[in-house]
Amino acid sequence: MNETSTNRPVLDADEILAGIREWVEIESPTTDAAAVNRMADKVQADYAGIGARLERIAGRDGFGDHLLVTSPWGGDGPGILVLSHLDTVHDIGTLGTKLPFRVEGDVAYGPGIYDMKGGAHLAFAAMRHLAREGRETVLPIRHLLVSEEEVGSPTSRAIIEREARRAKFVLVTEPAREGGKIVTARKGTARFELRIKGRPAHSGARHEDGRSAVKELARQILDLEAMTDYALGVTVNVGVVSGGTRANVVAEEAYAEIDMRVPNQAVGDAAVAKVLALKPYDPDVTLAVTGGLNRPGYEKGADIEALFQHAKRIAAGIGFELKDLKTGGGSDGNFTAAIAPTLDGLGVDGKGGHTDYEQLYVSSLVPRARLMLGLFEELS
Ligand SMILES: [Zn+2]
Repeated sequence: MNETSTNRPVLDADEILAGIREWVEIESPTTDAAAVNRMADKVQADYAGIGARLERIAGRDGFGDHLLVTSPWGGDGPGILVLSHLDTVHDIGTLGTKLPFRVEGDVAYGPGIYDMKGGAHLAFAAMRHLAREGRETVLPIRHLLVSEEEVGSPTSRAIIEREARRAKFVLVTEPAREGGKIVTARKGTARFELRIKGRPAHSGARHEDGRSAVKELARQILDLEAMTDYALGVTVNVGVVSGGTRANVVAEEAYAEIDMRVPNQAVGDAAVAKVLALKPYDPDVTLAVTGGLNRPGYEKGADIEALFQHAKRIAAGIGFELKDLKTGGGSDGNFTAAIAPTLDGLGVDGKGGHTDYEQLYVSSLVPRARLMLGLFEELS
């Protein structure tokens, strides 16, 4: 499957897919630092093979290492930051049981193939191509691959933001969706923990002395979920609850974990303040709420629109119509969008991220690699 266009170089789908297979077959769950480091070793070796400059950033807090790759050409000035992650949500052993690498027609399956080893590999393939052709881009390209995106990038966020500050553009290789659409806006994410303390009592003999933390939690859940406003773009999900010890004891304690998505900083700040100000219905019960925004909203401003239009023109030249969308899901693009114009969802097309039918469409590989290549070459 070779591209034979005269004004564009050859990118080979079979070679790209074989490379993705090698990356997918190194399982790398976020929670297994040694496994993520094996993946980093492989990416490092592949990039070393094309003469790229490499910086390995040691992991901490139990997470794996991050990798910062710089194109063989270009200086230390403002460049293009390509953002990827090495980790997946799939436990070791998924490859050997539920989700072996396999190709059926146009569909290739494997753990992390869609989110996002496929996309990360496309960026590598585009840079390899330039290196083979002896061509250089106007801007230096820096490819940052982090080890713990799937848990919110707690150890890499500062590195991501630092690299975004010296980038003119940021390209994120998260998967494309809904037929190849890229992402130009993402909701912000907030997380909270709610701890409720009541007063225990024997549920038969001294029921009236008890102050039930579980009953209080039930009321708070309804208030929290009622903050959901689809028109405003706010959703609140009380996703985890616990409380009480025995059926015949008025519950002293209850607990909840809450996920909130917001469209932008202003709406987010107001919604966060509302959660942090929760008051108990029962004056004898205490509430403790902790948390806040952990990924800011990613809003499509004029500079992102201009970058999207540029990408759209490149895609039209390749022969496909590029569309964009806004999603509720967060990514590292949320950290960079406020710092430098960011396009996300530039990875492979497919579906089933985080599931045991995770898949990419083989026919998307070459067009998407060419789009990445076009952005590398034309952005200045
Ligand atoms: Zn991802």
